[in-house]
Amino acid sequence: MKFPEVWDLTSIFKGGSKSEQFKQFVQETDELLITLERKLVQQISLDQLETFIHNVQEYMQRAREASAFISCLTAQDVKDQEARLWLGKVTEQNTQIQNIWGTIENFLVELTEEEWKAFISRPSLVGIAFNLEERRQQSKEKLSSLEEKLAAQLAIDGYHAWGNVYNSAVGRMHIPFEENGVEKQLSPGQLQNRMNSSDRLIRERAFKASEIAWEKEAELFAQTLNHLAGFRLNLYKARGWDRVLKEPLAINRMKEETLQMMWETITENKPKLYKFMERKAKLLGMKKLAMHDVSAPLPVEGDTTILYVDACQLIIEHFRAFSPKLATFTEGALRDGWVEAEDRAGKRPGGFCTTFPISKQSRIFMTYDGTMANVATLAHELGHAYHGYCLRELDPLAQRYAMNVAETASTLAETIIAEALVKEAANEDVKLSLLENKISRSLAFFMNIHARFLFETRFYEARKEKVLSVSELNTMMEKAQREAYGNQLSSYSPTFWASKLHFHITGVPFYNFPYTFGYLFSLGIYKKALVTGSSFEQDYIALLQDTASMTVEELAEKHLKVDLTNKAFWQEAIDLVLTDIDEFMTLTENRC
Ligand SMILES: [Zn+2]
Repeated sequence: MKFPEVWDLTSIFKGGSKSEQFKQFVQETDELLITLERKLVQQISLDQLETFIHNVQEYMQRAREASAFISCLTAQDVKDQEARLWLGKVTEQNTQIQNIWGTIENFLVELTEEEWKAFISRPSLVGIAFNLEERRQQSKEKLSSLEEKLAAQLAIDGYHAWGNVYNSAVGRMHIPFEENGVEKQLSPGQLQNRMNSSDRLIRERAFKASEIAWEKEAELFAQTLNHLAGFRLNLYKARGWDRVLKEPLAINRMKEETLQMMWETITENKPKLYKFMERKAKLLGMKKLAMHDVSAPLPVEGDTTILYVDACQLIIEHFRAFSPKLATFTEGALRDGWVEAEDRAGKRPGGFCTTFPISKQSRIFMTYDGTMANVATLAHELGHAYHGYCLRELDPLAQRYAMNVAETASTLAETIIAEALVKEAANEDVKLSLLENKISRSLAFFMNIHARFLFETRFYEARKEKVLSVSELNTMMEKAQREAYGNQLSSYSPTFWASKLHFHITGVPFYNFPYTFGYLFSLGIYKKALVTGSSFEQDYIALLQDTASMTVEELAEKHLKVDLTNKAFWQEAIDLVLTDIDEFMTLTENRC
């Protein structure tokens, strides 16, 4: 079978960023939106409301289709200016869609309980009853629509702008770093890559240079962080919300008890992770790991590269053992040009998967150069594509899953391949390195993300009282890291609050715990699959299909028969990591 390394976009829109077909499509969406906006100004009947809800969902899909196409164009060629211009247009359409939803929600809130019950029981709305209920509930908990509109307008310059200031200041940062006797000016991203080097001296120098650079800019970043947090807190206060976690939990459709139980179970298991960290330190020839050693790779001898065609075959084969449907889907995606993998200049870095809801297809973007990490990325993105595929026939709102379950299918796909690769490793060195990589990934979710969560929770509590200084932020960050890493490291990164973009993202609050949740949730499903065997395939598809139609607690209860507020589920998921640690400890017993 042939697996093209360059994707096919023509089957979606012909002609790239100059596509006439695409231009017409976007214009048509414009007209449809204007027409709907006009219809929404007057008093409307419930029948009309029902129709408008279907209309706006359809236009949402059109906007998603267009923005998916633009992401593909700008990713395959970073110099494609024409594609960039389209971006502004689609952002505009998304704002229009938001406003339309705002108006629809006002209508929903005004219905009496009786009218409401009857309305969401209408056959065409049953599939999105959860989502409509959620929107109605959330708008009840907000300010009046006029006040919310004003807040959203003020947020452009008073909230999101702080995030933008952060981004541009980071964009201008150049950090001096010596390489081969030449002093270079690196961007923070480039320096970050040096911190993952397999050479410890490079890692250490990069870490020090980074700390100095962020400390130098810390005064400005303390302002951006304090101000954007202040805005968020004032809005919460006006709405009468006293818990900082209220919004992030609602976005992720989960209970606080679930979140607390997840962290509690992780914390209890940490001493077993310390043993792994001690062993890794020994293998790397040091007493204790430093912050920049935690995710450092173990040295591997020889060539471990794998050809793209072999990676595709390997993924299909191992997916098949887990789920024949997933394998057949993957085969089709790889064969039909859904993946852009070619290693060539002009592509943007990184990888992603984007779904075209109207064409009912996905596209995966990455640069494949034969490393094991590339194979993992390919499997991961194929998992995302499969999630999209399982949802393709549902109502548009029922396809909008939250961040904490967004990584379920992808992480699961990655786990299947990682397990297989460890099992089939060519020699013990390779096996160890793969195993170490797998465990280190969990360490990031259990410790690094935990530190971010601890810091952010405490920071927002403290910010309710006052503005925090640079030294207070540094102290708070280091304390959170010491706690999350169990004091096991020889150095910490006090300026992490400044260097980590996630604290400064205004689009989504608390961009941290959903990662850990998603990871453990998918491990829990994997464990379940191992126990259940082949009958699990149908259950798995049914679970994915419900990811945007219920809370995570309901999802777990219905499809996994487990209670997420209970320790057992989390412990079983963590046990998979502990098994890996045991194997790692046995394999390395005589190595240091
Ligand atoms: Zn992902």
